[in-house]
Amino acid sequence: MRHFSLRTLLTEAANAHQGWARQWRAPEPKPAYDAIIVGGGGHGLATAYYMAQEHGMRNIAVLEKGWIGGGNTGRNTTIIRSNYLYDESAAIYDHAVKLWEGLSQALNYNVMYSARGVLMLAHNQHDVQSFKRHVYANRLNGVDNEWLTPEQAKAFCPPLNISPDIRYPVLGGALQRRGGVARHDAVAWGYARGADALGVDIIQNCEVTGIVRGSDGAVTGVETTKGPIRTPRIGVVAAGHTSVIMAMAGVRMPLESFPLQALVSEPVKPVFPCVLMSNAVHAYISQSDKGELVIGAGTDQYVSYSQQGGLHITTHTLDAICELFPQFSRLRLLRNWGGIVDVTPDRSPIIGRTPVPGLFVNCGWGTGGFKATPGSGHVFAWTVAKGEPHPINAPFTLDRFRTGRLIDEAAAAAVAH
Ligand SMILES: Cc1cc2nc3c(=O)[nH]c(=O)nc-3n(C[C@H](O)[C@H](O)[C@H](O)COP(=O)(O)OP(=O)(O)OC[C@H]3O[C@@H](n4cnc5c(N)ncnc54)[C@H](O)[C@@H]3O)c2cc1C
Repeated sequence: MRHFSLRTLLTEAANAHQGWARQWRAPEPKPAYDAIIVGGGGHGLATAYYMAQEHGMRNIAVLEKGWIGGGNTGRNTTIIRSNYLYDESAAIYDHAVKLWEGLSQALNYNVMYSARGVLMLAHNQHDVQSFKRHVYANRLNGVDNEWLTPEQAKAFCPPLNISPDIRYPVLGGALQRRGGVARHDAVAWGYARGADALGVDIIQNCEVTGIVRGSDGAVTGVETTKGPIRTPRIGVVAAGHTSVIMAMAGVRMPLESFPLQALVSEPVKPVFPCVLMSNAVHAYISQSDKGELVIGAGTDQYVSYSQQGGLHITTHTLDAICELFPQFSRLRLLRNWGGIVDVTPDRSPIIGRTPVPGLFVNCGWGTGGFKATPGSGHVFAWTVAKGEPHPINAPFTLDRFRTGRLIDEAAAAAVAH
């Protein structure tokens, strides 16, 4: 019979444990989220909502460095239209307009979509020919758009000055009656509430500071100001800052970021029935439900991440507004502000996969992405969930800047809002 001392027993137990510990490997930690959306603007929140609503992905999070809707979503002039020239653009923007039409019902949240008509003024022969071309192209795509004479434009928008002796006389206009406005922050809140109800985590004050990749190059998570989070799928929807975030994964983007400004007048009784845009004088105007005249200005000529622009841009816009509407010259400016828009070389967005497995991007909406919010979120949700483009966003690849298959709305759109 063998006798064991206590020491022998302890030594054998320790050896056995070490052997077992050598063989045992800790299992790979599970991803914290099945997907992460970077950016809690309208597009990011809409993406998360549709991923949960239509693709059954509930274990997802939206990370926002500030507060939801505090970026361009809460800073824009809310113009909604789909009268873009090219087939690809008309398809995505009209997809969005169709979703706008039922959005308050779908979210059970009043986003105050108001189809009051968007009138785009022509001031010279080039404008006339270009807008008539838009009208015909839009009709071929099933998008409403019609040509108005100066008198018809005045009847539709009574405050308009159609006197022939002003600096830029009105020669007519293209009217999209289904175009209009919505309440911008309600869109962020409506999508956020809808996504939250479906189980999506919305994490504010959480800035993404790094994108982590595994040995095979695929994304494995993000670094944030609240700590690391694991995930195999990331959708970047961070207007104005896309290049910075994509650089964290080693991807160089064909984007420039510019300040874009807007301003509102003091509130007055209802005086302005529609949305009016003038490319030649660079001004666009509507009236909010609070009574303020909402006026959009142009981008600064230099790149910047500053959320304010040059004062001369604002004064130029106000000159133009007062020329078209002399009666507004005595109104006082209530406040002005700026946002940062990211612009692609062909002025069309980029929505899709990137060279990094698991990393998707939605950006480049420039001065005109608010109108696209529901459509953009809808197709990007498909893309992130399935790992492949929705037919509507298939042409808007990052790769088009390598192949040359551009969607050059730049010359056609001028003021692209
Ligand atoms: C003055 C102005 C007027 C405009 N007028 C119109 C208009 O009339 N009609 C129209 O269609 N469009 C208009 N636009 C453009 C429109 O606002 C934008 O295209 C659209 O709102 C973009 O939405 P988004 O959700 O992509 O971006 P955002 O609302 O900007 O959301 C992006 C979010 O990403 C967050 N973010 C950035 N970096 C990080 C990070 N590292 N980590 C976490 N979060 C991050 C930001 O804080 C931000 O909240 C206008 C823009 C401006 C500035």
